[in-house]
Parts: sequence; structure tokens; C-alpha cells
Amino acid sequence: MATGQKLMRAIRVFEFGGPEVLKLQSDIVVPVPKEHQVLIKVHACGINPVETYIRTGTHNVKPRLPYTPGTDVAGIIESVGDKVSAFKKGDRVFSTSTISGAYAEYALAADHTVYILPGNLDFKQGAAIGIPYFTAYRALFHSARAKAGESVLVHGASGGVGLATCQIARAYGLKVLGTAGTEEGQEIVLQNGAHEVFNHREANYIDKIKKSVGEKGIDVIIEMLANVNLSNDLKLLSHGGRVIVVGSRGPIEINPRDTMTKESSIIGVTLFSSTKAELQQFASALQAGMESGWLRPVIGSQYPLEKAAQAHEDIIRGSRAAGKMVLVL
Ligand code: NAP
Repeated sequence: MATGQKLMRAIRVFEFGGPEVLKLQSDIVVPVPKEHQVLIKVHACGINPVETYIRTGTHNVKPRLPYTPGTDVAGIIESVGDKVSAFKKGDRVFSTSTISGAYAEYALAADHTVYILPGNLDFKQGAAIGIPYFTAYRALFHSARAKAGESVLVHGASGGVGLATCQIARAYGLKVLGTAGTEEGQEIVLQNGAHEVFNHREANYIDKIKKSVGEKGIDVIIEMLANVNLSNDLKLLSHGGRVIVVGSRGPIEINPRDTMTKESSIIGVTLFSSTKAELQQFASALQAGMESGWLRPVIGSQYPLEKAAQAHEDIIRGSRAAGKMVLVL
């Protein structure tokens, strides 16, 4: 270690594998921001399912080892590099990407991936914006081209992306139906924009949705678990309806005929494919939501940094979501 270097605690991954490869280290050098970079003192960090896929080494994003996982932090600007004009030391911010990783006491980020966190949101809420809200916005408006007055089913509405989708869709004038797997989840979905909620663990819930929407069907389905639901989704759609595949964890058999008479579409979405210009556009819409108050992330399970492996275990295996999972530092 060179003289004067500051050390921090951070999670490091030295080999791809199960949750146990997330190792807490206390001697990681705090990075120094260069041109157009900022250093954030992290107060909270979002845990996203994609970080578990990347950790296994099977995702198309495959970082060079060792690495620190994560993209979504909220905290305070500690220092800024040259040519940074939008931020100064002491600003409250959140990020949508990091250079050095997010599961750490400090995170280095490019200035165009950092945004001011308004005073009406705390750091945990700030850490719940990045992947969930940007994905929800992209799925609704870039992928589905949803319009005010249309109906949307958020299939898996109780987690990070689902609640974000409910809030955004309601704010933009859609009729919002959501699903959750527990009573607590259902309650939270209703409190966050859904007009109606269903339990996706109930045997006959698809019939209940069909009854509720009638002959016309649903215009847009934002799908969190396509490998379970895609076949049913196609039967729920309206003429010209769109299923947006946000999450899928395996194969499923569908009948392509179900798309024909209704001329419906199945569209995949990947937040990581967004261009810089698209991200700026999503950010502007979301910033407006923070200002006017409809964007209010709901926080679910919270873990300290040293329990990151437990959080990874729980987000994949124990999903009984009631808001966004975060690490609190
Ligand atoms: P999360 O917070 O863990 O939430 C998972 C959601 O899935 C919960 O609402 C859960 O409901 C629900 N679920 C469980 N079983 C279900 C079922 N049979 N049918 C419908 N929903 C079900 O995860 P997240 O951050 O919201 O992410 C959701 C999915 O989207 C993940 O697979 C993630 O990898 C993916 N994703 C993709 C992108 C992209 O760019 N394509 C971006 C972000 C996330 P209960 O727990 O109440 O049962």
C-alpha cells in the first residue's frame, strides 16, 4: 500500500460460484476519482437479482476477477475528479452504475451515471432507484410503448422492479393490475399504484384476472417470471397486446397460435442495452416523479455488508418480496 492510501471494507469476488464466493475484505484501497468521475461514500446499496447471475459466471456480463458487485448506491459525494461540474463534496446522490463496484464503503462512478437524490428520499430509497426504476420505465415506454388509458398487468409486482412499474404506470394514467405471492406483498402493491391485486400463488388467480378484465383482455403485461407465466400471459392479452419479458429463469412451452388471432407480441428487455441518451431520458422522467412525489421506493429486507451472501441466497431462493432488498452501510 502506498503512503496516504485510505482503506475500506468491500465485498470481493475472487472466483465465480455460489453466494459463498462473496468475501468481505477490509483492506481494499479507496479509489481516487479521475476526470469526469466522482467518489461516493456509500450509505445504502441495492441488491438486484442480476448480481447473483453475474456472480455465477454464466451471465453475458462477466467481470474480470477479482471484482466488487453492484451498480446502485446512494450516499454522499466524498470527492470529485477534474471536469466534474454537476457535483461537489457533500451532495446527496444515487447511481445507476459504478466503476469500482457497489457493495463497498466507497464507490467510484462516472459523473453521467450519478444523480442528485432529493431530500424527500432517504439513502435506502436512493439505492432502490437504479436498476428497478430504469428497467420499469424502459419496459413500459421503450419496449411496450404503453399509452395512457391502456391496462397493464405487472406480473410479479411486489419486488424492486414490480413496485417501480406500478408507481410509474399509475402516474402515467394506465389501469394497473398487479400480482404478489403473499398478503403483505399484495397490500404493498395496492398501496403503490395498483387498482387491483391478485395472488400468483393461488391456483385460480388467472381466472380471476380474466374475469376482471373481461373479453377485451390486457394491453400490456410486464412479466417478472416468464418461464412460469408466458403461456398464460398470451391468453390474457388484448388484440395487439404486448408481453414484456423482464425476468425469466428457464424455458417454457408456449403455443405460438396464441399470438396469431390477437396479433400480440412478446418483447424482451435488457436495461443494459439502453443508450446513454435513453438513460438520460429515463432519468428526466424519474426525476420528475421524485419531485412531484409519486416515485417513492418501498424498502423490504435490509442486510449489513457482511451479510451480502445471505442476501444473494434470499433474493433467489426465498422470494416473498415486500419491497426492494438493500444493503445498509
Ligand atoms: P425481486 O425484488 O426479487 O422480486 C421478484 C418478484 O417476482 C416478486 O414480486 C415476486 O413475488 C415475483 N414472483 C415470484 N413468483 C412469481 C410468479 N410465479 N409469477 C410472477 N411473479 C412472481 O426482483 P426484481 O428486482 O423485481 O426483478 C424481477 C426479475 O426481473 C428478476 O428475474 C430479475 O433478474 C429481472 N430483471 C431484469 C432486468 C432486465 O433488464 N431485463 C432488470 C431488472 C430485473 P413474491 O415474492 O411476492 O411471490
